[in-house]
This record gives sequence, structure tokens and C-alpha cells, in this order.
Amino acid sequence: MFEKILIANRGEIACRVAATARRMGVRTVAVYSDADAHAKHVLACDEAVHVGGSAPRDSYLQWQRIIDAARATGAQAIHPGYGFLSENEDFAQACQDAGLVFIGPPASAINAMGLKAESKRLMEGAGVPLVPGYHGADQDLALLRQQADRIGYPVLIKASAGGGGKGMRAVERGEDFDAALASCKREAINSFGDDAVLVEKYVQRPRHIEIQVFADTHGHCVYLFERDCSVQRRHQKVLEEAPAPGLTPALRRQMGEAAVAAARAVGYVGAGTVEFIVEQPGGYEHPEQMKFYFMEMNTRLQVEHPVTEAITGQDLVEWQLRVAAGQPLPLTQDELLIDGHAIEARICAENPDKDFLPATGTLHVYRKPPHAAFEFGAVRFDDGVREGDAISPFYDSMIAKLIVWGETRQEALAKLDAALAATHIVGLQTNVQFLRHVLASDSFAQARLDTALIPRERAQLFQQDRLGRDMAVAAAVAQTVLAERAAETSDPFSRTDGFRSHGVASRRVDLEYRGESVVAKLRYLSDGLQLQVDDAEPKPLSLTALPDGRIDLRYGGARELVQVYALGEVEHVFGTRGAVQITELDTLSRADEGAGEGGRLTAPMPGKVVSIAVKAGDKVSKGQPLAVMEAMKMEHTIAAPQDGVVDEVLYAPGDQVTEGAELLRLGLLSK
Ligand code: ADP
Ligand code: ADP
Ligand code: MG
Repeated sequence: MFEKILIANRGEIACRVAATARRMGVRTVAVYSDADAHAKHVLACDEAVHVGGSAPRDSYLQWQRIIDAARATGAQAIHPGYGFLSENEDFAQACQDAGLVFIGPPASAINAMGLKAESKRLMEGAGVPLVPGYHGADQDLALLRQQADRIGYPVLIKASAGGGGKGMRAVERGEDFDAALASCKREAINSFGDDAVLVEKYVQRPRHIEIQVFADTHGHCVYLFERDCSVQRRHQKVLEEAPAPGLTPALRRQMGEAAVAAARAVGYVGAGTVEFIVEQPGGYEHPEQMKFYFMEMNTRLQVEHPVTEAITGQDLVEWQLRVAAGQPLPLTQDELLIDGHAIEARICAENPDKDFLPATGTLHVYRKPPHAAFEFGAVRFDDGVREGDAISPFYDSMIAKLIVWGETRQEALAKLDAALAATHIVGLQTNVQFLRHVLASDSFAQARLDTALIPRERAQLFQQDRLGRDMAVAAAVAQTVLAERAAETSDPFSRTDGFRSHGVASRRVDLEYRGESVVAKLRYLSDGLQLQVDDAEPKPLSLTALPDGRIDLRYGGARELVQVYALGEVEHVFGTRGAVQITELDTLSRADEGAGEGGRLTAPMPGKVVSIAVKAGDKVSKGQPLAVMEAMKMEHTIAAPQDGVVDEVLYAPGDQVTEGAELLRLGLLSK
């Protein structure tokens, strides 16, 4: 086994690899950028080397510096994690040339699976089923169009070099093909520097089911079953589970064997994932009719690998280290078994209600579910941040992964919901409550899975508040009352807002709840508190502070255990049923600058300008796309807030912009 390895990554995956290395007695070297100088992953390792500026291209993608760091610290091998250099065959080769072990497949296998079109040609030869389509090298436009007509609409155009859900266009009708092809090629050349595409049948209501494979240098190759990653937004995974609900043992074996054949066809070594798109012609009720087709192979450890660990009881990073050190696989196919059910939720800094716009900011409050440990167990929480850390615009928006295990899917689902309810993050937008809404949706609860689940269930997922206005108001008022009581107890002469000592029996609190103003009237009666919300009937309010900081709140016949965090004038209320923010208007400073109004169009987040669809002088109508920005692996369209005429365009494609930067100026149309 190695004595020391370098981890060429950051965030949760760097911490994850370091944890296993430590358990195995392998010393670790971290690398870090300027922005990550004090990051959790740096402290998780025994040594750390600074490799450059905050942008990935200046640090985590600087592979010569990373190789130099490995040599300087005496590391024998490099673990690339996922993303960054993990699927870079030149890096894998450079490691080998430098006498270092790349903990991953041989460069030739990365190369063979690197381009979707070429890998499909290879898979065809290995007898792995493919989505009907065209993946030839000839990129003649007329030929591509003719192939699309032959396949039959709808079709999907994919950038061969694409990844991360980017570079794909679904085309419904033949007349839209040319425009979609042009825009796909444009995105592909900008994002991946290669505009080759393939065209395939667009599978309706498909499931994404992938197989974890593992191969060693002694000719063994096994599959560690499947993960269902059908719940996606923007072609990116949101929830992943193992095993795939409804998959028959026969199909599991067929898919597993196909994945092993795929790995063997490219001389694979180490951990890999073969992704399949699965058609359900018989609907959810007839899983035995499912048909699977090869989509791509990811030649690295996958973000969602913990669900496989949870159902097999194996540590995949340990397997990676063993295989890279030349040892045989720890288990044979027959020794691998599925135990129970596991689900992973990706907790991201984003606003689901704003089309999943990534968010940045400081984790002022960052509370994990109790009993969650960075290890195997019923509730596992993998992260690379601590309270007080910032989610910066330089890297992706994933904050943490929450993984739960249960005897059954139903048990795992209930545990995940409870763990999410106990995950309290204040300081930036997250998808935590959205994830709970997905879990509660009929489709997810009943395992009616396919990649259209989120759009299909949207009415239950977005703009939801499961706590309700009255509970939110009650929680905000309770927090204020408790804060005052605490102040009075500690110093009876300090009168924060001492209404009772002034003989005042009631008070008014002005609040803002989901954009609407609410008036709360609190009365102190001899037998307790009474709360009136707007003009509704006043009702008794009972509140008890619990030792763990929560408040047992009873109002209007309902009971809720809430935890309230005040940040500025905003009260962040977390209950068992949901979470909501409510603002106290009396302390709100009204220095509103009116950003975004008056024709200024500003960047909603820091990032890169991808394209500008208009030029000065253009007339635009409300809702018309004006520009596309990219940040944290996602693209966002900036649309006209009203009819108008473009006065000035202030940035060009490729420019980096800061949050709030004015992108273009819009004037009103003169009548
Ligand atoms: P998966 O199928 O495992 O989700 P993705 O292609 O979405 O694979 O990427 C895996 C992970 O790699 C992401 O979640 C992200 O953390 C990281 N990653 C990928 N591309 C980038 C990038 N350009 N910058 C930073 N991180 C990236
Ligand atoms: P990436 O490299 O971006 O991960 P994939 O080829 O793995 O690209 O596809 C990403 C997602 O797009 C899949 O998980 C699936 O939801 C969807 N998808 C891919 N191919 C098809 C298809 N032929 N029909 C329908 N959906 C597809
Ligand atoms: Mg994929």
C-alpha cells in the first residue's frame, strides 16, 4: 500500500478521500487555491501545498504544479477525485511519466470513453445496446439532418465532448433541427472546444440507471449493482438511490454484465460508472419490460458513490487505493450482495424557485442532522465546509451530500426527510426544502421515476411553504418574546422593549411574509399570550423554549417544533414540516437602491457572459432572452423585465462579471 498520496481536488470529495486514507494509515497531501487557503479539505490532510489562484484553471487544473507538489512531498500516487483533472488523459499519462500512480484507469481507457460518439462506436462492437442514433465521424450538416429524419423525432443532439448536462438539445420537429444543431455546436465549441455532435432518439419518460463497475490489474472485473439517478434538473442529478426501484434481478444481471463488457472492451482498471438510459414501454407497472441503452461511461469515482457503499458495505475509495497499489479486488461478483436501500440528496447553494439559480454567500448557520457522521451509518453527511465558510463563485454549488440507509426504501425516505428537516442553513439560498418537497411528491414516494419527475410534479415542488403564514408569524413573534425574556432575566433593569414594565398589555409587530405585509398583534393576558394575525380572530399562543434551542409552539390548534435564527431583520424559521423566512419590518432599513429597476439589467451572480442576444438599438419585448450567463456549472438566461429598447450593451461573450454588474441598459420605448 502507498505511504502517502496527493489528493488533487477540493471540497467534500477531497475530505472523503482523506478520511479513508487516514483509516488505512496512508498519509495525505492536499492542494489548495487562494480561495481555499483555510478550507476544510486542507485541514483534513496531513500536508498541504498551495497551487495557485482561485479560478480552477489557475490552481486545480494546473497539472504540472500538482505533479511537482506530489514529487516535492514524496507522495507516490495522486487521487483526482471527480471533476477537474479526473477525466483528463494527458494528466493520467503525465503522472505515469513522472513515476507517480494515477488512482484511476489507464490513460487509454479515459481516451476511449472520453468522446461520446467514439465510445458508442466502441460499445457497438462490444455488443452493448445503444440508443438508436447516428454517432459517425462525418459531420456534414445535410447528413446529420438526414440521420435525424431517419431516426424519427423527437431526437436529441449531443456534443460528443459534452458533460455535466451541457451541450444537449432536444428537437421535436424536423423544421427545428437546423437551428438546434447550430446552437448546440456553438455551445459545444465554447464549452468544450470541439463541436462534433451525435444524434440519437430522444427517449420518452426515461430513467437514468447506472452501474458501478470495478476492475483490477489481475483481469478481474465486477459490478456493484446500480444507482437510479432519474431525478434530475437541467440534466443534472438531484437525488440518487440504490437499488433502482422495481428493477428485476434478471435485468440487474443483464445490465451489470453489459457494464462489465463495456469496461473490459476498453481495458478498464479502477472505479467506473456505465450510465444507461432506460425506456419503460410498459410504464411503471411493468418494470420487466424496461429496455436499457448505453449512454456514456464516467471514468472516475462518481458524486453519488456513497449509495453504493451503503448497500454493499464496501468503501469504494479503499477499493480504489488497493487496485491502484496493484492488489486484487477485495471481493468476487458472487460475494457482493445488496443490503437494504440508500438515498442521497445533493444539498446545493441555489434557488429552486428561480430556475435553480446558483447562490453564493456565507454559511452563517450550518447545522447538520444530529448523529450524522462522516462515516458509514444510517445517516451520513459528506461535506467540505464548516459554519462560517463561504460558498464562492469559483467552484460548483454543491454544499454537501446527505446519504441515508434503511431496511426498505420507505424507511430510507422517512429518514432522509427527517435528516433534511434537521439541516439548517442560513446565509444563502439552498435547495433543502425543495428536496423535501420532491421526497413528498406522489411520483417519488411511489417510485414512479423518470427524468421528467420534477417538471411533472412542479405544482407541489416550487413556491411552497409547508409551515404556513400563521405558524411563521407565531415563530417570529415567539423568538422576539423569548429574546426579551432572556434579556430581562439576565438584567432586570435593562428594558429592551419592556412593554410589561411600562404597563403596556399589547404590542404590534409589522412583518413581511413572502412579499406581503402582515400585522401581528400580541396581547399579554393574565392567563397567557394571545396573537392576532391581520384581521383574523385572536387565538392563544403558547411557547416553550426547549433546552436544545428549539421552541415548542402552539397556535391556532396547530403545534410545531421550530428553531428560529435571526440574521439582521430576517427570522429564519425551521420547523419539522418546513422552513420559511419572515422579515420584521420595524427594524428594516429602507435604504433600497432599487437595483434591477429603471432599465438596469444586472448580473444575478458572479460568472461569465456566454452570449448576448441583442445589440444597442434593438427593440425587445418583455420576457425576451437578452443574454446568457454561466456560473457554477450552470447557464442562466437574462430576460427583458419589460418592453423596451436596448440602449447599451456593456459586456461581451467571454467576459467575467461580478454579482450586480450592469450587463446592459434598457430604455423605455417612446410612444
Ligand atoms: P456526475 O454524473 O458525477 O454528477 P458531473 O459531470 O455532473 O458528474 O460532475 C461531477 C462533479 O465534478 C460535479 O458535481 C462537480 O463537483 C465537479 N465538476 C465538474 N465540472 C466542474 C467544473 N468545471 N468546475 C468545478 N467542478 C466541476
Ligand atoms: P452528461 O455527460 O452531460 O452527463 P449524458 O449523456 O450522460 O450527458 O446525459 C445526461 C442526461 O440527459 C441523462 O441522465 C438523461 O437524463 C438525459 N438524456 C441523455 N440521453 C438521452 C436520450 N437519448 N433520451 C432522453 N434523455 C436523455
Ligand atoms: Mg452523464
